[in-house]
Amino acid sequence: MKILVPVKRVIDYNVKARVKADGSGVDLTNVKMSMNPFDEIAVEEAARLKEAGIATEVIAVSCGVAACQETLRTAMAIGADRGILVETEVELQPLAVAKLLKALCDKEQPQLVICGKQAIDDDANQTGQMLAALAGWPQATFASKVAIADGKATVTREIDGGLETLALTLPTVVSTDLRLNEPRYATLPNIMKAKKKPLDTVTPAELGVDVAPRLTTLKVVEPAKRSAGIMVADVQQLVAKLKNEAKVI
Ligand code: AMP
Repeated sequence: MKILVPVKRVIDYNVKARVKADGSGVDLTNVKMSMNPFDEIAVEEAARLKEAGIATEVIAVSCGVAACQETLRTAMAIGADRGILVETEVELQPLAVAKLLKALCDKEQPQLVICGKQAIDDDANQTGQMLAALAGWPQATFASKVAIADGKATVTREIDGGLETLALTLPTVVSTDLRLNEPRYATLPNIMKAKKKPLDTVTPAELGVDVAPRLTTLKVVEPAKRSAGIMVADVQQLVAKLKNEAKVI
């Protein structure tokens, strides 16, 4: 069983995002980029399924600029067997990524796609769902547990106030939630080994996909700055302020 894991190169989660002066988007010049954290969880899950003898091959896919190769090498250091870069300079929206992944699924015939539940840059939470719809496959989003047996996936999902367990026939799309697993650190020997693993590059045109954006971003703004707090002398003063100034009690 092949597993396909889409991994996105995003602004590192520790970096404070700055908005471009013209409000057209987030400034990415000289900003540290890393693999989307939910995708690290997806690669880890796929690696564990391979180690358990359930998967035979784990393929990491990244769509974007040439630098996404680094993200693919990280995926291979965690445990992916090979990488595919779908190279383009066009800023990709979830529908375009879903179409590219669909084309790769047609080519590679994986039984399972494990993606992140959302990319921390656009927070779209759309790509996996769109891929499942395009491929006509069942899907389980926000997985906190995945088990594969007898041509079926049993996926436990985190829902409001509890857990839901779904049984899905393969092939299927699963998206990862935070508590699915704790990804391993890529060790130096594995980083060195990952450099020798195969990495193919294709273009959207070779996959027959038009990736032109369908949505236009009107404006991006920074959140309003929070004003400084004040110290109150005692509880009476706090209550008076909440009542007379903030008018919340
Ligand atoms: P999103 O729908 O943008 O929130 O992304 C959800 C998931 O889709 C991510 O966690 C990735 O697994 C996958 N994905 C989105 N964009 C890309 C991309 N450019 N390359 C590879 N995978 C992606």
